[in-house]
Amino acid sequence: MESYTPDFSLEVQGVKGFCPAGEVYAKRSIAEKKIPVLSCEGPCIRGDIARLAANLVAQELPSYARACHAETFFVPHSTMARWVKQAEKSVMIDGCFLKCHGRALKGLVGEGTMIHIDALPLYQKYTDIFSMDDVPEEERKAVARQVADKIVAMLRTEHPQGAALQTVSLGQ
Ligand code: SF4
Repeated sequence: MESYTPDFSLEVQGVKGFCPAGEVYAKRSIAEKKIPVLSCEGPCIRGDIARLAANLVAQELPSYARACHAETFFVPHSTMARWVKQAEKSVMIDGCFLKCHGRALKGLVGEGTMIHIDALPLYQKYTDIFSMDDVPEEERKAVARQVADKIVAMLRTEHPQGAALQTVSLGQ
């Protein structure tokens, strides 16, 4: 089995319309100059820890807000996509070294404005588990809290508002 895929593109069916709530939210985020925080998600435990941590990071740092990665990638005419693409910087918290969502985001925003984080090295657990349902909810939340604390500390020290932009890979 091949263990490598070179750069590739994905054909995606076109779409009409908007998510009304997403439009309002993204317009407000643009007006407030929020820095988008995106993540992967469950059902994989690594994706779920990344998602929970992303929520906590955005809740804790007033200048950051969660963005929907799927709307950003798959509804290109949405305000969500416009917000992420025009943001001065964005944060992508991926669940593991495969960095699925950051690899796609990189093509949209360019490497120079993306703070790309692999969450797994920040807690190093559950490497033999796939499903998030195999880890109790309270434990998932506690681990996500630890991950979020590390990311918040990094963003506060390395990316204070107005600081020069750079791409980082935390936990590598
Ligand atoms: S980076 Fe990819 S493989 Fe890893 S947890 Fe996220 S979606 Fe799953």
